[in-house]
Amino acid sequence: MGEKSYKYVIVGGGVAAGYAAREFVKQGLKAGELAIFSAEKVAPYERPALSKGYFSPEGAARLPGFHVCVGSGGDKQPPEWYTEKGIDLHLNTQVSMVDVQQKSLTSLAGVSYRFSILILATGSTFTKLSESGVPGADARGIYYLRVIDEADALVAAMKAKKDGAAVVVGGGYIGMELAACLCLNGLKVTMVYPKPFCMPRLFTADLASFYEGYYEGKGITILKGPKTTGFETDATGHVKAVKLDDGSVVPADIVVVGVGAKPLVGLLHGQVVEDKGGFKVDGFFRTSDPHVYVVGDLAAFPLKMFCDIRRVEHVDHARKSGIHAVQAIKAAEEWKTIPEYDYLPYFYSRAFELSWQFYGDNVGEGITWGREGACAAKSKFGTYWVKDGKIMGAFLEGGTPEENKMMANVAKAQPCVCSNDELRAAGLSFAANF
Ligand code: FAD
Repeated sequence: MGEKSYKYVIVGGGVAAGYAAREFVKQGLKAGELAIFSAEKVAPYERPALSKGYFSPEGAARLPGFHVCVGSGGDKQPPEWYTEKGIDLHLNTQVSMVDVQQKSLTSLAGVSYRFSILILATGSTFTKLSESGVPGADARGIYYLRVIDEADALVAAMKAKKDGAAVVVGGGYIGMELAACLCLNGLKVTMVYPKPFCMPRLFTADLASFYEGYYEGKGITILKGPKTTGFETDATGHVKAVKLDDGSVVPADIVVVGVGAKPLVGLLHGQVVEDKGGFKVDGFFRTSDPHVYVVGDLAAFPLKMFCDIRRVEHVDHARKSGIHAVQAIKAAEEWKTIPEYDYLPYFYSRAFELSWQFYGDNVGEGITWGREGACAAKSKFGTYWVKDGKIMGAFLEGGTPEENKMMANVAKAQPCVCSNDELRAAGLSFAANF
């Protein structure tokens, strides 16, 4: 029998894939035209839930509750949805090879398929400490988080080590969110990161000090500055402590590591043009091969508003890029075109009762307002980033949906600022004008 052939194939079954599938259906899809290949055992879901609601001590989020597209207010797409729409969802199917010239792919099990159009949506994976040679980093009891199986393993470990000590290595948003989850589940949490403050890629020192103070108020110990140099294990090979380069040793029943992500580029490496650690695409997510599109974390796309090429590893872009690529594919079939992707970078995080949103670019000077006296939940404060007299980015903690929308609007409008002091004094009300 010959290889099965599909008009459209999506490799990767995460956020971008799920939203792309919905858009194919919306645009008109015949049964058998689309296949999705996913290494995961479950249909596409809203990945951010894994470091938030999945660990709630009460009423934890579980599938099918957070399949795409619920995260943006749409209907959820459980596995039956794909069957009803005539989409072949190949779960537990890792793709091991793509041949762009031959328009074919092969699964790890050795089965080959052909396609006319390929959308690559394999996303990222975590950086492991063992990759940088940290001794003991492969010990049992050390957890990373990207996919649902890893979340399940961490939930089980948390239950097994209830009331124990957890060390979180890394002060990015995954580390911050998981530290909160572990704390809410009764573990005694220590966070360790080498930078002078948390979330250094986004936060100013002033913003970070609020979150660090809040976490300490919840009983979390924060060790800033030291690097993790190794892990001590017990006789069974399970982690028992984290060793730091200042000589200290922190006891640990569980270790959770969040030290960054790396894009999964292996399948197209050397076959289409690469950029920024991912694949270069145009404003329609088309690569240097016109039959191959790349979306989500992997796409290095033209960010029109900043006249730059960027990769964005956040969920809002994953959703929108999946949708935009499909709209472009379907338009091209009718010799039509659509506007180029014009994206306003957006990222959010939630932990404990805290919730922040950020829009735009955090370049230039950070002008923080409302920070005085903000020391508990329900605080409202923010930061505008100002460069060359223009607003480039806007951050808001504790905003209502309307206020968050104002932040998006001001970051998009990039208005001129006459005086940073006046901006600080105006605070939220400055954004009300846009
Ligand atoms: P993914 O959603 O990662 O999907 C990739 C899929 O491809 C996976 O299912 C993977 O198993 C599969 N795959 C990989 N290789 C293969 C292969 N060879 N064959 C078949 N399948 C393969 N962003 C925010 O803005 N806010 C947040 O609060 C937030 N929280 C997050 C929490 C966690 C725990 C994680 C991991 C990420 C979070 N993000 C958040 C980032 C956001 O989820 C990602 O940017 C987004 O999921 C990227 O979408 P994607 O479709 O490109 O990749």
